[in-house]
Amino acid sequence: MSRVSHLPPCLFGIKKTKYYPAQDDLAPRESLPKPLILVSLGQDLNLESNAMLDVLIVGAGISGISAACHLEKQCANKSYAVLEGRDNVGGTWDLFRYPGIRSDSDMHTFGFSFKPWTNAKSISDGESIRDYLKEAVAEYGVKDKIRFGHKVVSANWDSARDVWCVAARNSAGETVDIETRVLFMCSGYYNYAQGYTPDFAGLADFKGELIHPQKWPENLDYAGKKVAVIGSGATAVTIVPNMVDKAAHVTMIQRSPTYMFSRPAKDAVANFLGAVLPSKLAYALTRWKNIYFQNATYKGARNNPEKTKKLLLDSVRKSLGDDYDIDTHFTPRYNPWEERLCLIPDDDFLSAVKSGAAEVVTDTIDTFVENGILLSSGKLIEADIVVSATGLNMQFMGGVEFFLDEVKLDLSKRFYYQGMMFSGVPNLIQTFGYINASWTLRADLNSVFVCDMLQQMDRQGASFCVPELRPEEASMAPQPTISGFNPGYMQRGIHEFPKQGEHAPWHNTQDYLLDRKILKRSLFSDGVLQFGCSESDAQTRAA
Ligand SMILES: Cc1cc2nc3c(=O)[nH]c(=O)nc-3n(C[C@H](O)[C@H](O)[C@H](O)COP(=O)(O)OP(=O)(O)OC[C@H]3O[C@@H](n4cnc5c(N)ncnc54)[C@H](O)[C@@H]3O)c2cc1C
Repeated sequence: MSRVSHLPPCLFGIKKTKYYPAQDDLAPRESLPKPLILVSLGQDLNLESNAMLDVLIVGAGISGISAACHLEKQCANKSYAVLEGRDNVGGTWDLFRYPGIRSDSDMHTFGFSFKPWTNAKSISDGESIRDYLKEAVAEYGVKDKIRFGHKVVSANWDSARDVWCVAARNSAGETVDIETRVLFMCSGYYNYAQGYTPDFAGLADFKGELIHPQKWPENLDYAGKKVAVIGSGATAVTIVPNMVDKAAHVTMIQRSPTYMFSRPAKDAVANFLGAVLPSKLAYALTRWKNIYFQNATYKGARNNPEKTKKLLLDSVRKSLGDDYDIDTHFTPRYNPWEERLCLIPDDDFLSAVKSGAAEVVTDTIDTFVENGILLSSGKLIEADIVVSATGLNMQFMGGVEFFLDEVKLDLSKRFYYQGMMFSGVPNLIQTFGYINASWTLRADLNSVFVCDMLQQMDRQGASFCVPELRPEEASMAPQPTISGFNPGYMQRGIHEFPKQGEHAPWHNTQDYLLDRKILKRSLFSDGVLQFGCSESDAQTRAA
């Protein structure tokens, strides 16, 4: 770990960029946390004195692990560390512990490109995903580079030295500082401290237990109890069939329905290929099969919403029978893929509804009462336990405050470059996965990009890489980061995110196959990504 990059002299001599300020990046650096004790993480990481990291990764979930494994594979000469606010790897897959927690993507695309998923179940339980992530960390030698219990709170880009000065709060409450050339934010997209629960009327009157799936009590005993689950998304449809065995009855209360589609949890083709081919080849073939299938079905749904709607509803009708009121309980008000579809593995949710063990009620909540929930229709849903599967609070970049030369950055006023860097902000990359395909596909692409960028910086002797708007783009109209996708958590939190532009490379494609093609091309001569180095860096290297 005690490495400093030995770069060639800077080809540019001195910095040539100005990091064009957005109009509202004007607030002075007032809100920095006051250090209780300032500790330098460099010593802990055995860095030589005055050395900095080449890359600091924030977050040890799927994206952070992908980033670290790629650095190990592709950039063995680079020093890096991972700061993780919690005490374990896995992020989402360590945090969520509700009954039946599972992926709603197939693991052949949700797994890493470099590590085959060999488990027979393609729609996997949370524990197996956690194990897979821990294995990756061990196999690629990443574990020693992770510092747990370090929550990054701020990062200031010092343009005199081309360095991110990062402050983290450790579990002892100390402020820890670390310097890094490149900052790679793999901090997910939601607030870990608190999930979203609407302001329900009458909550104080409720005598039962109210639980948010993000904070599932370890030993919750729900045997023989009446359970109401509020929500209709992936979390609700996972929890309901997994509580029916023990609970007296489970009612899912939804304001409006979600599109659902059933699929076997085991992929017969994948398991056949796995039995006859080497695991890497079998994994690659299944992965491509699924990528093309997902891409085609997503585009098919967007281009032919009526046809897709009919297919989805017919399939639900087949599971529940003609007598069931599909119109009220399973026909959404929007078109397929305007919100994420809900995957039902092995028909579990629909079987629980058909058997009568679970009931779906489509109504609005009027108020909580002592023994349950009173609906607007006047119906009372009795409940000992209410699960509020009402979603997440989005949080941009792990809640970190960013500064450019001590001036606060408002990244919502910047443009996304290729959906991962920010106009006018050097050496800062973020992973935000796809809404219509497995998150990991995008995480792996970004990890490869960062490795390529570091190698390009080395070739050019550069200490920074920044996407800058071209002069003709200076008045480009900002568009929302993601268009045509409107689940509640997006509507509540998307304003914090940077904007997308009208065209490439500022456009957020949400298309893995296209992004893969674009990122394989040399982006480094697109006239947007600029490389250079600071005066002090040029002098150091010339010396
Ligand atoms: C219940 C659930 C199921 C999901 N299922 C799927 C699925 O099947 N398929 C799919 O594609 N997507 C799914 N998603 C989306 C999912 O979050 C991603 O797929 C993926 O796990 C995100 O990985 P990540 O590493 O980017 O973020 P996370 O898993 O959120 O990990 C981020 C890590 O960063 C850490 N962190 C955050 N801020 C800081 C900070 N300031 N300092 C230090 N550390 C910080 C967190 O503690 C965490 O460990 C699901 C999400 C949820 C909530």
